[in-house]
Amino acid sequence: KTAIRFKDVSKIYSLKSGDVIALDHVSLSIDEGEFIAIMGPSGSGKSTLLNMMGCLDTPTDGEVFISDQNIGEMSDDQLTILRRRHLGFIFQQFNLIPLLSAIENVRLPLILNGGSDVCTDRCRNILSAVGISEERLEHKPSELSGGQQQRVAIARALINNPEILLADEPTGNLDTKTGAQIMDLLSHLRKEEGKTIIMVTHDPTLSRYADRVINIVDGRIQ
Ligand code: ADP
Ligand code: ADP
Repeated sequence: KTAIRFKDVSKIYSLKSGDVIALDHVSLSIDEGEFIAIMGPSGSGKSTLLNMMGCLDTPTDGEVFISDQNIGEMSDDQLTILRRRHLGFIFQQFNLIPLLSAIENVRLPLILNGGSDVCTDRCRNILSAVGISEERLEHKPSELSGGQQQRVAIARALINNPEILLADEPTGNLDTKTGAQIMDLLSHLRKEEGKTIIMVTHDPTLSRYADRVINIVDGRIQ
């Protein structure tokens, strides 16, 4: 089954200084359960591509299908639902809420999704599965190491059980050894849970974790 499909997608930003072509007739298809690395120089269109996969941006031209739904034909409310149910987001800066504990950060998407109870057991189980031990559940992000913060962020991305994980430079803020542990965790989620993983990275050594590398240069897939 296809998780994500781009059909002749272009994205053009119209600025006073002229048009910027961020994506130039991109077509691609990503199967469920694939681990994809998106690589390319700065300004080549990686963020634009990932934002579109995350339904945070819409194409100027062409069609984008996420879990068989054409995002160009959906209302903002429908896109929000699609994002919350089918997609999980992981960031370079972790983007945890500083005032909330580890378990509260993981619980937040459940609350936003209208969860009628707070599902403490589910949050604990997911945190344990990503390698956060009991005694850290009440720690604030500032009391955790970078690797631990990224594990909490991955737990948060998983809490609504999305099929697709979108990761923007997930190891960019971590040392090599911790980064490798996070990559192992993502590989595990692909192998054991069948997650589709799309990762943007500058780091060529990470390509070995991916089933396939998508190279993008000047908004075009090479
Ligand atoms: P990358 O992530 O590979 O660095 P981006 O997708 O951020 O590349 O950017 C691709 C091109 O589109 C760049 O020329 C960038 O300056 C431009 N761009 C990206 N976002 C915007 C925006 N919101 N407004 C105008 N130009 C943008
Ligand atoms: P990355 O670190 O992933 O390459 P960028 O620095 O290219 O990210 O972009 C960071 C954010 O700024 C993105 O959300 C992108 O859409 C936006 N952006 C990039 N270039 C421009 C631009 N020329 N004008 C406005 N926004 C931009």
